[in-house]
Parts: sequence; structure tokens; C-alpha cells
Amino acid sequence: MNHSYTQTKAEHCPYCEGTGYFQLLLGGSETCNQCKGNGQDHQSK
Ligand SMILES: [Zn+2]
Repeated sequence: MNHSYTQTKAEHCPYCEGTGYFQLLLGGSETCNQCKGNGQDHQSK
């Protein structure tokens, strides 16, 4: 059996779209406090 997991199923943070940070128009980036820069949705638990 081939056990392959697709990352498309992974729940990424909807705020930063899984990037873990926001891209500021002024320049630079800000860490997403929703996923704390992880890029994954940690809402539950
Ligand atoms: Zn995020």
C-alpha cells in the first residue's frame, strides 16, 4: 500500500494562507499571531 499524504488536506491558517506571516505593503513582514508563524490553523484545542 502506498501511504502518501497530501498537504492540500492540511489545514493552513486562513489569515496568512499558510505562510505564517503577513506581507506588509510598506515593506517587510509581520508574523501572524493566529498561527504564530507556523502557517497552520491551531484553532481547535
Ligand atoms: Zn497565520
